[in-house]
Amino acid sequence: MRDLPRDQFTHIPERISGLVDLAYNLWWSWNPEARILFKQLNRQAWKESVHNPVRMLRAIPAEFLQRAAENPAYLHRYDVIMHRFRKYMDATGTWFSEEYPGRPPLSIAYFSAEYGLHHSLPFYAGGLGFLAGDHLKEASDLGLPMVAVGFMYSQGYLHQHVNPDGWQEGITEPVDRDAAPITRVLDAAGEDLVVRVPHIDPPIYVAVWKVRVGRIPLYLLDTNVACNSPGNREISSRLYTGDQEQRLRQEIVLGIGGRKVLHSLGIEYSAVHLNEGHPAFALLERIRERVERGIDFDAALGEVQATSVFTTHTPVPAGHDVFPADLIDRYFKTYYPALGIDRTRFLQLGVHPESPGAGFNMTAFALRASAHHNGVSRANGTVTRKMWSCLWPGTAGATVPIDHVTNGVHVPTWLNPRMKNLYDRYIGPISPGWLSEHDDPAVWELIDEIPDDELWRLHLHLKAKLISRLRERERVRWTVHSGGRADRAAGGAFLNPSVLTIGFARRFSTYKRAQLIFEDPERLKRILNNPWYPVQIVFAGKAHPADDGGKRVLQKIYRYAQQPEFAGRIAFVEDYGEQVAQYLVHGVDVWLNNPLPPMEASGTSGMKAALNGVLNLSILDGWWIEGYNGRNGWAFGNEETGCEGRDRADASAIYDLLEKEVVPLYYDRSIDDVPHGWVRMMKESIKSNGPRFSARRMVKEYVTRYYPSLLKGAGGEFARTGAAAKPRKQAWNPRTQEKTREEGA
Ligand SMILES: *Cc1c(COP(=O)(O)O)cnc(C)c1O
Repeated sequence: MRDLPRDQFTHIPERISGLVDLAYNLWWSWNPEARILFKQLNRQAWKESVHNPVRMLRAIPAEFLQRAAENPAYLHRYDVIMHRFRKYMDATGTWFSEEYPGRPPLSIAYFSAEYGLHHSLPFYAGGLGFLAGDHLKEASDLGLPMVAVGFMYSQGYLHQHVNPDGWQEGITEPVDRDAAPITRVLDAAGEDLVVRVPHIDPPIYVAVWKVRVGRIPLYLLDTNVACNSPGNREISSRLYTGDQEQRLRQEIVLGIGGRKVLHSLGIEYSAVHLNEGHPAFALLERIRERVERGIDFDAALGEVQATSVFTTHTPVPAGHDVFPADLIDRYFKTYYPALGIDRTRFLQLGVHPESPGAGFNMTAFALRASAHHNGVSRANGTVTRKMWSCLWPGTAGATVPIDHVTNGVHVPTWLNPRMKNLYDRYIGPISPGWLSEHDDPAVWELIDEIPDDELWRLHLHLKAKLISRLRERERVRWTVHSGGRADRAAGGAFLNPSVLTIGFARRFSTYKRAQLIFEDPERLKRILNNPWYPVQIVFAGKAHPADDGGKRVLQKIYRYAQQPEFAGRIAFVEDYGEQVAQYLVHGVDVWLNNPLPPMEASGTSGMKAALNGVLNLSILDGWWIEGYNGRNGWAFGNEETGCEGRDRADASAIYDLLEKEVVPLYYDRSIDDVPHGWVRMMKESIKSNGPRFSARRMVKEYVTRYYPSLLKGAGGEFARTGAAAKPRKQAWNPRTQEKTREEGA
C-alpha cells in the first residue's frame, strides 16, 4: 500500500510498521483483536485519541512504540493479526468468489450521500448512513467486487451541545483530515487528483479522498479545491444543506462528479446501487457516457436501467428532493444536448405524475432510470409501492414493480466484543467458525447453551460500563460548560446501574416522537419513582440544524430531565454518534422505539440492541413487524394510523407494558439474583434477530436477487455454479415467508 502517508510515521519502528496499514483500513474497527494491538501500545493514548488509531499513531511518543517492538508477547500478537489482515485482503475463497466463479469483470458502484463507518469519520446524520457503512463492511467480508462513492464533508455533521435552557446548539468543527483514516487520491503525476464535473456550467471541480473499508475502496468527493469559485468550494462542506440550489449542486457533484471520478480511476464496467435518491444523477451520467459512445438515448437508458439498483427509504412525499425546472435549466443547459434529448424530454424524466408542475423529482427519476428498486422492510415495500404506483399506470398493490430487502446490521461491528467472546465460548465448540455463517439461524440456536447467570453478569458488566462512560462524559461537560445541579441531573450524573434502564436514541425527527413517553407525565413519574422497582431512561439524538420542531422536542425532554420530580432518572446524552450508540446498544436493558407508523422505513438501532441481548419495546412499524415473535421483546400500536388520540393511545400502551410486563419481569429475581425470565427473553431476542437482521443476510439477498440480472444487463455470460445453487438449509426464507403472510392477509 504505497499510497499511505508513510513519511508522517517515521517514528514507528520498521518491525511494527504494519500498524500504519492497519490504522488506515477500517478492518481493524470490526476485528476486536486488531483493536487490541493499538490499545496495548498505551491505554491512555488510545483513550486520548478517542479510539482513533491514525490520531494515536501520530501523537504517541516513540518510546512506547519502541517498547512494543521489543516485547515478544506484543510482537507475537502483532504477527498473528497482520497475517490475518493480509490474508483477508488477498480476498481468495470468499463467499462471492465461490458463488460466482469466473464471472465477468463487473463491479458494483455504491453511491450514498452519507456513510456511518466510525466516529472518526463524521460523514453521517443517521440510519441511512449506517446502513451504507454496514453494507460496505459486509460487502467486504463477503468478497463482493464493489467500489463506493460519497462526500468528504469538511465540517462533518454538527456536534451537539444542549444549553441550560435545553436548546440544542450546533457546534461545527472542521474534520481534522490528518487525524482521520483517509488519504488523498493522486493522479499519475503524483499530484492531487482533481476532476471536472462534466458538462456542468459554470464548472465545478472535485478532489478525491479514499477510505479503505476492508477490501472496498470508498472514494470521497471534496469540492474545497483552489480552482473552484468560493461558492463551489462550499458544496461539500456539510451534510444536507437546507439551501435548495446548494443541495442541487451537491447532488450534481455526488452523482455526475462521482461517476466521472470512477471513470478517471479506470473503473468502467460497473453496475450501480443507489442508496436513496440523492445520488440519482449518477444514472444520468451513465446514460450520457453511452450517448457519447454513439448509442442513442433510449437504448442507453435501457442499458442503464438493466444495470441499476435503487434503494429508497423515504415513506413521505415531502422527504424526496424536487428541484424547480428553472433551477435545473441553470445547471443542465449544456447537459440536455449531451444526452441527445431536448429540455422537455429531460424534465419528463423527473416528473411526478401527481404534481407535474413541481419540478424534477429525484426519486421519480431514479425509479424510471433503474429496473431494480426496493424498499427497506416488508412494510416499507408496501408503502413505497402505494406511493409510486402512479409511475406504472394500471398497476396496483403487489403488481407495482417495487420490491423490498429488509435492512440488517453488520454483526462484527455491532456485537460487543465481550459478548462475542461469550457466544464463541458456547457456540464455538459445537459450531466453529459460527461467525462466518452468522446468517444461518441454526447456528444461533446454540445461544441456549449459555448459562443464564453468565449472560446476565456480562450484561450487567456492560451496563455498568455504559453508566460509568455516561458519568464520565457528564464530568467533562461540567468542566467545559459548568451549569447548575439541574444540568448535572439532566446529563445523567445520577444514573444508577442497578435500575432498569431504557434507551431511546436516534435522530430527533418529529415522526420519531421522542417525547411520546411524556404524554402523561404523572403516570411516568410514578413508574420512574417506584421505590421498589425504579426505572430510568437515557435519551440521545440530534435534531437537524434547520429543524426547530425537533429542537423543541429535545428541549421538552431536557426540561423534564432537569426537574427533581423525575428524580434524576431521566438523562439526555449530548452529541449522539457512533461511539455513544455502541455503548447504548450494548448496555441498556430495553430499547424503546415509538415512531408514528408507517414512517419508520426500517430502523436499525433496535437490531443492534437485539444482537446484544437488549430487549426491544417497540411499536409495530418498520423492521419490528418482521422481527417480533411474541417471545423476543414487546410490541404495541397495531392500529391504523391517523386516528385522533394516537399519541395518547400509544403512550398508554407503553405505560401498560412497563407496569404489567417489563418492570415485573426485570425485578423478578431468583435466589441467585438472576432474572431468569428476562434472560430467557434476551436469548430469544439474540437467536431470533441476530441472523435475520444481519447485514450478511441483507447483502446476500441483494446479490442473489439482483446480481444475475445486473450481469445479464451488462452483457456478461452468467452461470451460477457455487454453493448457493444447492438447496439451502436456512430455516427462514424472507421471500417465502413474505408470500405466505401476504396471501394470508
Ligand atoms: C444505528 C444508528 C442510527 C439509526 O438508528 P434508527 O433507530 O434506525 O433511527 C442512527 N444513529 C446512530 C449513531 C446509529 O448508530
